[in-house]
Amino acid sequence: MQDDIQQSQDRGPLRIPLPRAIDWELSAEIEKESAYLSSQVRRLRVTDSGTAVEVELEGSSDPDRAKLDAKIKRYLAAMLARVRTFEPIVYLESRRRNEGPVSRGVFSALVERGWLCEHGPGFVSLAGPARRLAVALDRTLASRYQDWFGAEEAAYPALIRSDVLSRCGYFSSHPNAARLVTHLVDDFDEIEAFRQINEGQDRLQLPGPAALAQPDLCLNPAACFPCYQALQGGRIPPTGRTLTWQGRVFRYESRNTSGLERLGEFSVRELVFLGGEQRVRDQRERLLSCLREVLTEWDLDCRIETASDPFFATVSAARTFWQHSRQAKYEMRIEVDPGDSPERRHIAGGSINLHDQFFGTRFGITAADGQPATTACAGVGIERWVLAVFSQHGLDPARWPEALRAAVTP
Ligand SMILES: [Zn+2]
Repeated sequence: MQDDIQQSQDRGPLRIPLPRAIDWELSAEIEKESAYLSSQVRRLRVTDSGTAVEVELEGSSDPDRAKLDAKIKRYLAAMLARVRTFEPIVYLESRRRNEGPVSRGVFSALVERGWLCEHGPGFVSLAGPARRLAVALDRTLASRYQDWFGAEEAAYPALIRSDVLSRCGYFSSHPNAARLVTHLVDDFDEIEAFRQINEGQDRLQLPGPAALAQPDLCLNPAACFPCYQALQGGRIPPTGRTLTWQGRVFRYESRNTSGLERLGEFSVRELVFLGGEQRVRDQRERLLSCLREVLTEWDLDCRIETASDPFFATVSAARTFWQHSRQAKYEMRIEVDPGDSPERRHIAGGSINLHDQFFGTRFGITAADGQPATTACAGVGIERWVLAVFSQHGLDPARWPEALRAAVTP
């Protein structure tokens, strides 16, 4: 990176030239991931030509500029090392038959109708037709998974032990998204000090870091993790095992939190296949046919294609390469409310992931042949599909496809 970071007089944005011009896709990633760059950075934007970034600083901060400049350069160098040479392979394309326009302003329209309450940044509750729709989408998938795969219904806690998350590799690939749970230390004086400084306050006051215990628990950030812990040391029968459940999933999204599409807490209808490699791969392929059937009934515009995980900036490009080259991750791209953009917009409504023997090895789960079990999972983000239905079919359930209309009619 060049050394000529310039800032115009009086807090104009910092302008940092890039060593090469970058495409829109990498630009979008650099902008999105910059949420985790520094609390002194309000916004980072790649210029239209893709040849420089502009960084707006928080007005109130008076940063150590040399340190901040060095941090921004380290961040950009990590992001520029990413390779993006993969054209996605499309496995399934479902086109909407309803020819109405895609709705805009869905989130605020749901709030106005009393169908959505925002309890805080990134966590919401649904009511009325929106809630009934969420339940219907989830139950439809659950019953299809039973019919197609004989899936057993399971349930797991929202909390997960930090050491279990470590074994899942989460802290080394997505540290920025982890939500750590702590509590006050078991200490009479610290608890009393905490009690006293909070007396009569309407905001949480912390006496100091010594009052907080080491976070040995986290809020679960990926629906399937607890199932591997539950099956730890077990053997999968020759016919394989298939589990399904609704998980609550938590991620810290910083300033990327947005509407129904990027929540900090959301619901996932999860499906997990365990067993021998060929069987699990076959099941994953059959799942595409199962989803095609559901998408046709719901009449939704959706594309299922290869993708890679949004790893933290410094996670090696080799991981992304591996996912793409193994076709380990498929993403369900659904069309939603484009907001202010004149372009159509698709977001990830879920993913289908082949983990090979990663979890089988980490949790000592064996297949019938004595090898570590192969696993695959499919997670459907229910709130994003609620957004897709309202976006693609409008706000009046009377005009929805029959299957969805019937499900939300009380
Ligand atoms: Zn999963």
